[in-house]
Amino acid sequence: MSLANSSPVASSSPQPASSAFEKLSPVTGESQGTFAITDASGVEAAIKRARAAFPAWRDLGIDGRIKVLNRLRPVLLENAESFARRISEDTGKPIQEALVTELISIWLYHDYNRKHAARVLGRRRVKTPLVFTGKQSYIEYFPRGVIGVISPWNYPLQLAVAPVLSALIGGNTVVLKPSEVTPLTGLLAEELFKRIGLPEGVVEVVHGDGSTGAALTAGDIDMVFFTGSVATGRKVMQAAAQKPIPCELELGGKDAFIVCADANLERAARAAVWGGLVNCGQTCISVERIFVVDSVHDRFVQLVREQVESLRVGGPDEFADVGPMIFARQISTVERHIADAKEKGARILTGGARVDRPGQFFNPTLLADVTTEMAIYREETFGPVLPVVRVQDEEEAIRLANDHEYGLNGSVWTQNLSKGMRLASRLECGQVAVNDVISTTGHPGLPFGGVKASGIGRYHGEEGLRAFMHTKGLMVDRGLLNNEPTWFPYTERKLPAVLSLARGVIGGSIPKLLSGFINLLRSDK
Ligand code: NAD
Repeated sequence: MSLANSSPVASSSPQPASSAFEKLSPVTGESQGTFAITDASGVEAAIKRARAAFPAWRDLGIDGRIKVLNRLRPVLLENAESFARRISEDTGKPIQEALVTELISIWLYHDYNRKHAARVLGRRRVKTPLVFTGKQSYIEYFPRGVIGVISPWNYPLQLAVAPVLSALIGGNTVVLKPSEVTPLTGLLAEELFKRIGLPEGVVEVVHGDGSTGAALTAGDIDMVFFTGSVATGRKVMQAAAQKPIPCELELGGKDAFIVCADANLERAARAAVWGGLVNCGQTCISVERIFVVDSVHDRFVQLVREQVESLRVGGPDEFADVGPMIFARQISTVERHIADAKEKGARILTGGARVDRPGQFFNPTLLADVTTEMAIYREETFGPVLPVVRVQDEEEAIRLANDHEYGLNGSVWTQNLSKGMRLASRLECGQVAVNDVISTTGHPGLPFGGVKASGIGRYHGEEGLRAFMHTKGLMVDRGLLNNEPTWFPYTERKLPAVLSLARGVIGGSIPKLLSGFINLLRSDK
């Protein structure tokens, strides 16, 4: 990676750049420099280096790898503030958000991994069915090899680094391609791995746009882990299918937020505002559809409106609550959704337009009377808009929530916790909270991922560690018998014993199974 504006720890990897692009600040609109794109030959070279590094990293063993990866702690401790500032400079997000949702999150995921990986990825004994008497059975895991990780711009450090750490601890090496929309943070990710002091080639970072990502998915990798839009996810899956290699997709969402009549309305209103507007609404698990039961609708909407109107919009240096849109082109989606909703009868209670200042600022927006045929209801908005849908009761809310192409996250708001859990269990999504938002994703032990168009696969937690591994079944026999009774030869004498064995196994009768087994042994003589 060569970079026109210098970086304190620039890559030493010889990656030829075919072209470069300019990056503008989302806060001021001014240029933040010109950034190079790694071309296909650079990607191929990076994959080769990662493959060469794989055997030694795998053979280091889990304790050895944890020891190396634990250097993340001093690096994050020493640099938390400066790293957060660099993310904020790149994205415009408040420094507080960069600290909490990027840096603290990364540490929580690694802390979980280092404490649990040896157990989760270690060989474990499982029960052996009686019909296999005399044998022992195990499940074990081994790394896939070189993992391609492709990440988006909304949480540009966390979503790049977290899957890499999970892949590494299991013994894989990684080629990471961060988003071109946030290239300063892409460089920061590269710097972070250098500062940890990983052996050469264990993490290679290639920079650039979709062409670099496509070169990575077409390259000699053993798995691709992709976070981004559904449209790109389809392309990534198609590329993976050509080989074929496993492909994990973490895609978009349209999360439901269901307010029951007995909810703590004040907490629910604050949660809807934070959950929908944190990171300026550019969160895959943003609150994007708020269903409110008729009897509390007007009171709830009033509380939300007061909250939204109290928010301050501005850049990181202004200690604002809501920063700018990170990706300029996303603003047109937000504008299209608001215009379409307005035309179809939604009321704009506050916001609805860009802020009149340089940069990519958009006023936090509250929409009431949103209905299912509006684009803002059907499509992911990924911006600072809270669409409220009035429903008769919780049943209608659950039905509507599930009648959607996305299923990433969701939440239910009620003071009756057992009812809340019942409703939560009925939501078709990968994660769900009762009386909370976003927190499920921060919990490193809970699996994260989507159903339907929101994705395939899980990361975080035990599932997340195993996602980057091959699973192997292992059986051990002491080798005392020269011939197993079920092996050749298939003689007429053996048939009744096999029938008795079959009746024992299928009928669940241990005496029949044992007598069939003993008769088989006898008939074999
Ligand atoms: P995007 O799909 O435009 O880009 C994601 C990444 O894919 C970028 O690094 C991009 O350069 C790369 N890319 C583009 N074309 C490619 C190709 N043909 N082959 C390989 N890689 C290619 O997504 P985005 O705009 O960066 O991110 C926003 C989307 O990500 C939203 O839909 C959001 O919901 C989703 N997202 C999902 C999660 C999750 O965990 N489920 C988290 C964050 C964001």
